[in-house]
Amino acid sequence: MPVADLRVPSRLGGDVSLTADAIIGFQAALRGQLLQPSSPGYDTARTVWNGMIDRRPGLIAQCATADDVVQAVRFARAHDLLVAVRGGGHNIGGNAVCDGGLMIDLSPMTAVHVDEANRTARVEAGATLGDLDCATQAVGLATPVGVNSTTGIAGLTLGGGFGWLSRSLGLTIDNLLSADVVTAAGEPLTASANENADLFWAIRGGGGNFGVVTSFTFQLHPVGPNVLAGLIVYPLDAGGDVLRFYRDFVNTTPEEFVCWFVMRQAPPLPFLPPEWHGREILALAVCWSGDIAEGERVAKPLRDFGAPIADIIGPMPFAAWQTILDPLLTPGARNYWKSHYFREIPDSLIDTLLEHARHIPDPQTEIAFAQLGGAINRVPHDATAYAHREAEFLINVHGRWSDPAKDDTCIAWARELFRATAPYAMEGAYVNFLTHEEKDRIRAAYGSDYERLVEIKTKYDPTNLFCVNQNIRPGA
Ligand SMILES: Cc1cc2nc3c(=O)[nH]c(=O)nc-3n(C[C@H](O)[C@H](O)[C@H](O)COP(=O)(O)OP(=O)(O)OC[C@H]3O[C@@H](n4cnc5c(N)ncnc54)[C@H](O)[C@@H]3O)c2cc1C
Repeated sequence: MPVADLRVPSRLGGDVSLTADAIIGFQAALRGQLLQPSSPGYDTARTVWNGMIDRRPGLIAQCATADDVVQAVRFARAHDLLVAVRGGGHNIGGNAVCDGGLMIDLSPMTAVHVDEANRTARVEAGATLGDLDCATQAVGLATPVGVNSTTGIAGLTLGGGFGWLSRSLGLTIDNLLSADVVTAAGEPLTASANENADLFWAIRGGGGNFGVVTSFTFQLHPVGPNVLAGLIVYPLDAGGDVLRFYRDFVNTTPEEFVCWFVMRQAPPLPFLPPEWHGREILALAVCWSGDIAEGERVAKPLRDFGAPIADIIGPMPFAAWQTILDPLLTPGARNYWKSHYFREIPDSLIDTLLEHARHIPDPQTEIAFAQLGGAINRVPHDATAYAHREAEFLINVHGRWSDPAKDDTCIAWARELFRATAPYAMEGAYVNFLTHEEKDRIRAAYGSDYERLVEIKTKYDPTNLFCVNQNIRPGA
């Protein structure tokens, strides 16, 4: 591939020129590939999960090793390039990719090494949740991660990370033992409770602000291989009664039980009667990660309630349950999210949700409610940089559609539901769910940890090399 000089915007303002020799030298230093806009694979590499994001980096360094990451950071620093870091590319605001600068793409780095005896896993930072779950479930172990297997472990972990196991085992960061990080100076170091403890604190909730993580080591726990899991689906018209029962019931269950709910138009799933396809439903998604017989007993009152359209709860492999939502969350659709944390679900919040669910603007759009609490709440607030441990629930107003002509309608609907539910919400936001336009919510997302995060940012990244993220600006 011929290499030409390249002119790209500098992160400090103005433009920088990269000579062909500099680019060739950079490629020679990498084990992975260096892509330019004319390279085969460039468009695939710059494409992220949210189809609304369309950015064109000047260069994409597809890193194969931690040393490649060191080379990429040093090159970006030497040439004052804007830097974006890609893990799984799921960030809704598109922070994995930048216009004109250098994208440090970790997606080739997907190795997972499980130490069964010590119940730990060392995971390269381009791995997806599916990569981790497959390797750990092969020996009956797991750590809490999110609910869509194609999400990147890196971004999810750096912002907190919660899923079906979090009520009993905590956030993903609560199970992080150490991380290998390349700092803005291009120096690799380890962050753990014993080494660079300030950095270790900051990367557990403070996002990608402090360096490029090249690998994570997690604590694992015995899980499965089968869990008791599945959906109970009701007509939306029954939603008021069901959700009033739900909010009282979920407070009484052991922490191995978790139940999220979704309001949407019914997809044409084989277990739903055809006459329900396309009509508004409320679906409860249940996962019990303890003894199966005990789970049957715990879930019974919920399963006995009302007159569901379908109940498909049963034992299934945990690794399969971890992929169950994948078909509804495929990459490429247009997505616009708004989210809030809640301590409780009052009647008037239920009424507000139901009213908006009746006007969902697209068959792919949904209102998703995650149950948190339990072990997440028990970790001391100052142990990590995740600021919202008291939250019991989180709403994701998940606007999703395919036709760009529906942008305005779908975005307006999501904003309106966000506004209408705000009176019931806690302060703050989940850093991993912020869109690119929610700059005004970044400080609230870091909450009372913000000042300490600024101090640590100033120490490890004083010139804000890592700024394409939910950014914490270094001090003067
Ligand atoms: C379909 C879907 C389902 C989701 N479900 C859940 C869920 O169940 N639970 C949950 O907690 N979250 C969930 N999320 C949110 C998810 O945690 C965030 O989108 C997260 O940012 C994804 O990480 P990523 O590596 O895929 O993203 P990327 O877009 O690659 O990166 C996200 C951010 O992290 C930075 N970053 C990435 N890799 C590194 C690295 N190695 N070092 C330093 N910085 C890095 C990026 O620069 C960017 O700012 C979901 C998202 C999607 C799209």
